[in-house]
Amino acid sequence: MTLLDADCYAFQDLLTPVEREAALALREFMEREVRPVADEYWDRAEFPHHLIPGIAATGVVGAAWPESARFENSAVFRGWAGLELARVDASFATFVGVTSGLAMTSIGVGGSEEQRAEWLPRLGRCEAIGAFGLTEPLSGSDVARGLRTTATREGDTWILNGAKRWIGNATFADVTVIWAKDTADDRVKGFLVRKDTPGFEAVKIERKQSLRSVQNADITLTDAAVPESDRLQRVESFRDVAQILRLTRTGVAWEAVGIAVGAYEAAVRYAAEREQFGKPIGSFQLVQDKLANSLADITASLGMCVRASQMQDEGRQNDEHSALAKAFVTARMRETVGRCREILGGNGIQLDHGVARHFADAEAVYSYEGTRDMNNLIVGRAITGRQAFV
Ligand code: FAD
Repeated sequence: MTLLDADCYAFQDLLTPVEREAALALREFMEREVRPVADEYWDRAEFPHHLIPGIAATGVVGAAWPESARFENSAVFRGWAGLELARVDASFATFVGVTSGLAMTSIGVGGSEEQRAEWLPRLGRCEAIGAFGLTEPLSGSDVARGLRTTATREGDTWILNGAKRWIGNATFADVTVIWAKDTADDRVKGFLVRKDTPGFEAVKIERKQSLRSVQNADITLTDAAVPESDRLQRVESFRDVAQILRLTRTGVAWEAVGIAVGAYEAAVRYAAEREQFGKPIGSFQLVQDKLANSLADITASLGMCVRASQMQDEGRQNDEHSALAKAFVTARMRETVGRCREILGGNGIQLDHGVARHFADAEAVYSYEGTRDMNNLIVGRAITGRQAFV
């Protein structure tokens, strides 16, 4: 079994034998367990909780941290794993991305030794699930300056008040990382808010038309009391949040390649089977042109993701590197899923034919963890030395 037919430049050869075996095992799990039920759960906007032990067994959750990693692995491997998840189901990839990426990276980067020891092993085994609460109803792209949720210290306790929006996994997560402004110094701090904290309420957002299986929540915090021992001890300001997002954004770029690959593979199959004018549509030049352009987009995107991840491992990744990858690759993904949808004609909008779900999911991935505008502004700042956010 080859890992990925769409990988025509054999980027997979960069994986070590152990990583390759793990990626193949993940692919097998996704094909055997997730693909058969993904459309059904997406359609019902429900999360397939029964798949959690299976994904935990693959060892891809928490692979970045010594406390939770099962084997030595690189950022390229972890990116590749995100691709494999999203190739089959971007909602499931997002579930993993939130707990293993956003929540665990917050604790891995911002937590004390004690906090890391308490949470990372459990999160890595999926015995606990994490969420990440940054975005607010009135503050999305401008969270760096516009965060309204407050944290007020009273002795050894912090009192949190405010609202969060779009928070993935939050309806069932055991711990949600809540970012709030300290009323004393106006700096952003991070808090590990446990599920049953009085004053913490997470209500599922209904009627989403993208990533429907992801349980996104509106959160309200009403005098929610969090002990000082659950404040992320190594977070000083929003600069630390930006560092976390720098690490996770490259992961979203990999997920976007996975979505493009999923749609492309379905379109290749369809082009071979569907006949019009007495021939398979794959024999028409215009259809081949769409497939070739899609493969080019996937290949260019893979190259960018691989290099961005390698630079992460080398400690050379700056904000603009991950922002450039996220912005470029999600734009390529959006064009690719559109072309692939087109190749399927009317069937392209129906779940049963393997493209419609990717087509719809691409829209959320295009906008979350920084819209293309925001990521391009981060790149523009690095190019010109001038910030143009306002
Ligand atoms: P806005 O900030 O209101 O932007 C609206 C539009 O205006 C965008 O096109 C934007 O690019 C543009 N715009 C804004 N400012 C400028 C400017 N200065 N110049 C040019 N254009 C500008 N957040 C979390 O914290 N945790 C999660 O788990 C999470 N999961 C998510 C899952 C889904 C499915 C979705 C849809 C979102 C999720 N988010 C999450 C939130 C996500 O990160 C935000 O939606 C995103 O950052 C954009 O913010 P916004 O939706 O408020 O859009």
